[in-house]
Amino acid sequence: MNNRIFNFSAGPAVLPESALKEAQKDLLNYKNCGMSVMEMSHRSKEFSEIITSTENKLRKILNIPDNYYVLFLQGGASLQFSMIPMNLYHDNKPVDVINTGSWTKKAIKELKRIGPFNMVASSEDKNFSYIPSIENLNLNPEASYVYITSNNTIAGTQYQEFPKTGKVPLVADMSSDILSRDLNTGDFGLIYAGAQKNIGPSGVTLVIIREDLIESASEYLPTMLQYKTHAEARSLYNTPPVFSIYMMKLVFEWIENNGGIKGIEALNNEKAGILYDAIDKSDFYYCPVEKDSRSKMNVVFRVVSNNEEFESKFVAEAAKAGLSGLKGHRSVGGLRASIYNAMPLAGIEALVQFMKEFERRNA
Ligand SMILES: *Cc1c(COP(=O)(O)O)cnc(C)c1O
Repeated sequence: MNNRIFNFSAGPAVLPESALKEAQKDLLNYKNCGMSVMEMSHRSKEFSEIITSTENKLRKILNIPDNYYVLFLQGGASLQFSMIPMNLYHDNKPVDVINTGSWTKKAIKELKRIGPFNMVASSEDKNFSYIPSIENLNLNPEASYVYITSNNTIAGTQYQEFPKTGKVPLVADMSSDILSRDLNTGDFGLIYAGAQKNIGPSGVTLVIIREDLIESASEYLPTMLQYKTHAEARSLYNTPPVFSIYMMKLVFEWIENNGGIKGIEALNNEKAGILYDAIDKSDFYYCPVEKDSRSKMNVVFRVVSNNEEFESKFVAEAAKAGLSGLKGHRSVGGLRASIYNAMPLAGIEALVQFMKEFERRNA
């Protein structure tokens, strides 16, 4: 692995080595253009091919219906917290929100500036350690949309199934689990994700939005904040993050070469299974997340008695052993292994091995 370590960072996160190597090969001279992708016009034939191919690959991988736009935007997932209500909220139609953690709370903070909402469910009562039941939600059939965070990067929870919202568009922040498993795009009005967790470098935000939803925004919104602007210009209204989009294309190629979304999903199930199994079988570690809500992307765990000294020691010694980024989010403490798509199985095996040794030395 030529000095590369296993990187368990929550984001920006590990990328497939094949994608990095391909980028390295192309860096100085992309396809005999005599320049890198970073240096070429976003209106050039070469870049036009890159962005079209990136979109087409994603459409194929996720089987995205024709009545959805795929947009490559900037401002991170965080700008979507504002853009979504700006474009999708309608007067006197409060938004229904399911609150599953820090990222939902940040989205609510921005939503509040635009319009009212109803919290139809929340797991804040138990420190966001579970996903509320999606049965018997008191959803408003007149809501502007229903808002969820599909994978909670910090709390380590993930929806196993999504609420059925009928005619009301379901909007999901999938920043930390997009392309980790198969899903039916048609069940959603809008899906979005900052790229830096599972699909590329930071700087580009993916938005998949149903056609009719781009029409509803006020024409008085700033041009750059209207989905319609970017949909009509095919993400080329202004200069897009060219290199990030190109990297995304290479990541999509890696997915294609690894059995597509089904292959990736199977690998993720295997990886998460091995790690949770090791935690559950040990008397030294435990997982604070309810079993049926556990994330396959961000595995949150602690040492029993929540001994913070042991946890700091764990993080430091793991880093020395080539396993980096295992500290839990500063807001919750503990340990967290982010095992996104590009984390190889060998990384999970190395982590489990290290956990056993650490337990033996410290239990
Ligand atoms: C990381 C993350 C964000 C924030 O992404 P930025 O691109 O930094 O704005 C939002 N939501 C979730 C679920 C995340 O994991």
